This record gives sequence, structure tokens and C-alpha cells, in this order.
Amino acid sequence: MTDEPAAEAAQATPADPNADCPHCGKRRALCVCEGITPIDNTVALLILQHPQEQDRDLGTARLTALHLKHAQLKIGLSWPSLSKILGRPTDPQRWAILYLGSVKAEAVAPGRDVVVVNKNGNAVEDQETALREIEGIVLLDGTWSQAKTLWWRNPWMLKCKRVVLGPKRPSRYGKLRREPRSDGLSTIEAAAMLLARLEGKPEIAAALNASFERLLARYREARPTSPPHPRPWRRSRHKPKHRQ
Ligand SMILES: [Zn+2]
Repeated sequence: MTDEPAAEAAQATPADPNADCPHCGKRRALCVCEGITPIDNTVALLILQHPQEQDRDLGTARLTALHLKHAQLKIGLSWPSLSKILGRPTDPQRWAILYLGSVKAEAVAPGRDVVVVNKNGNAVEDQETALREIEGIVLLDGTWSQAKTLWWRNPWMLKCKRVVLGPKRPSRYGKLRREPRSDGLSTIEAAAMLLARLEGKPEIAAALNASFERLLARYREARPTSPPHPRPWRRSRHKPKHRQ
């Protein structure tokens, strides 16, 4: 039971833009997944999402996975091993996790956008070899503190390589999100940077970032700029009433 059923009914719009898209999980007004052609990525992607990550509007984990043929999204708090998650024997040392610590790429390897660091937070010596060895990437999806929880609950992550990012530009999120990760990037931007670099294919980054920009444009368009007063003149302009 809601306190104000009348108010809620008044806000329902004719074309029901709140209906979820079965693919990206977003409300229809924010769905940008139509027409995405999955990329045949060589470096696999595993996104682990904290169960309480609830940014259905601006979260990008599912959208990222839709872009890639070899990507998995798992929601949970802990898993016994990487092999268990993937369902096949895997050497975690051939996988890299986007590291959450305070290491700054610019400080440890100036000029590099993707840096492999050791447990002390220093850049490993032979970066190119270390990058070439990476078969898959693990991204933790959620707020910074949720990602931190995932890190501490999954000791197998300590066996993975660690990578940090030195993005040349700030996240496209801009001011829309208050709690960015330490590198400030969204999951889709981080995946874009990593896969494009590891595979030497800038087109991967272009495709993922373009989707993200479309999502942000939709979001800016769809979100109310003021408290939700009924604005029939505006609604009727976009969604004429044709209700059965
Ligand atoms: Zn969708």
C-alpha cells in the first residue's frame, strides 16, 4: 500500500516508459541497447556486481556485457574461485583485476593508460609482456565501498594481476554520479579502455563509449529537472495518449 495512490497514478504516463527492457534492465526511456552488435572480444570480461548496486538508471554493467560476446555479469558477494565462476579451469594469474587501491597510473608509469602493478603498488618492469599475458579482466561493479567489500570477500582476487587506469579525460558521468570509483570511471568506460588497449582495437572503446554517451543523453532528457509536478503539455508533446 502506498500513501498516495492518487499521486502515483497521476504520474503514470501513457506509453509506460518505466517498463523494463529485458536486455539492459533499464526503463524503456533509458534503453540504448537496440542495435548493439556484440563484439567478438579476445580478452574476456567478468563483471562482478554487488547485490546492493541499485543504480538502475546509470549503472552500466549489463550494457557493457551486451556489447561483448565474451563477457559475464555475476551478481553476488563472494565466489570460491575464478574457475568456479567461469565454469572452467582458469589460471587467475592470467586474469587482471582493475585495482581499487590508491595507486595512480600517472605516478607509477607516466604516459601509460593501462598499467600493471605489483602488490606493492609499483609498476611491473615489463609492462608489454604483462599486458600480453592477460586473458581476462575482472571489474567490480558498485559504489566504491561496495567494490571494496567484494575485494575483501574474494581472496582469490589476490592471485590476479592488478591493473590501474590513467584515463586521459574525466568520466563522461560528469556530475551525475556522486560516488565514482577511485579512477572515476564508469564500468563501461573502464571496460572500453582496458579491452581497447589489450586488444589493440580502439573501435572497442568507440562502440562502448558511444553507447554510454547515448545513455547519458537519454538520462538528461528523461529525468525531471524539478520535483515531479504533472506537466501534461510536455508529456503530450512526446507521448500522445493512445490508451486502450
Ligand atoms: Zn535495453
